[in-house]
Amino acid sequence: MADEDHASGNEASAILDVIDDAIEEHDQWLQRWHRAMVVGGEPPGDVVSENAQYICRLGVWLDINKGRGLVDQPAFQELGKTHHEMHDFARLLALGGPGISDNATMAVEDYDELVGRVDRFKAAARRILEAFRKAAVELDPLTGVQNRRVMMAELEREQVRASRTDSPCCIAIADIDRFKEVNDEHGHQAGDRVLLHVAGSFLARMRPYDGIYRYGGEEFIIVLPDTDLRSARIVAERLRGMLEATPAKLADGGEVAVTASMGLAMIEDDVTVTETIARADRALYAAKDSGRNRVVEWREGMADDH
Ligand code: GH3
Ligand code: MG
Ligand code: MG
Repeated sequence: MADEDHASGNEASAILDVIDDAIEEHDQWLQRWHRAMVVGGEPPGDVVSENAQYICRLGVWLDINKGRGLVDQPAFQELGKTHHEMHDFARLLALGGPGISDNATMAVEDYDELVGRVDRFKAAARRILEAFRKAAVELDPLTGVQNRRVMMAELEREQVRASRTDSPCCIAIADIDRFKEVNDEHGHQAGDRVLLHVAGSFLARMRPYDGIYRYGGEEFIIVLPDTDLRSARIVAERLRGMLEATPAKLADGGEVAVTASMGLAMIEDDVTVTETIARADRALYAAKDSGRNRVVEWREGMADDH
């Protein structure tokens, strides 16, 4: 697996750790808040400080990562907002400030409001945890497209759907041409950028209901529902042509031309998904054999000689 795979996988798992810790950390913080309320005495700083929201690890982490990719997304903004609002209200309540509670006994609605804010914060944290856990299982960390693990189940679902609705469905396997040369000439990181470029190029031109999966190192499977072989060829030719026309940009400002070969096969009622993939693979190798940068359909009797 590529180094970059590990890097982006690590980033996701670091975020998972931060959010997981944040829930635990704030359970303990809430206990300290309750202790201060029940026992009295000097409340701790992370309960009454104006900057309480920056005294915890989550607050520092959100602040450091402000404006950076992921943390700029709405789910993290929501987490930051609920976190801030929870600390603010907890501080006001602990200080018995004006407008919150005007006598020694805390108003029930004030206490309930704090509990509600804590719940909203935890819900925001759990939403992120769930999304990241799902992504970690289903998405390829380098390209962001779905991985092979989810692919088989989805292709089988498409097979059932195609049969039930009596509509054609095709798959295409795309394999980058001479990709080893890209790695050899420009380095592995450049190779990773090219992979991202290819996934992005396909994604940008696929129809909304088509699916794409990273099938192997530099191979993608694209599923084309409601599409017979004739139309699948047109779609695949468009993807191939657009890739050929748009070189990948490298980190050093250079460009590298990239093409892919594709094999097409139709999903059929009485043919397993595994066999359909094998058919598309045979067609792919025929495309490689006949010069690369082209689309070939599977035909009966096509040799399985690789
Ligand atoms: P062909 O046109 O016949 O497909 O030639 P090719 O060089 O693309 O084929 P080959 O299967 O020999 O090489 C595939 C290369 O893809 C070898 C491997 O190092 C590289 N590769 C696989 N996964 C990754 C990855 O995640 N990142 C990078 N940078 N390279 C990868
Ligand atoms: Mg390959
Ligand atoms: Mg290849």
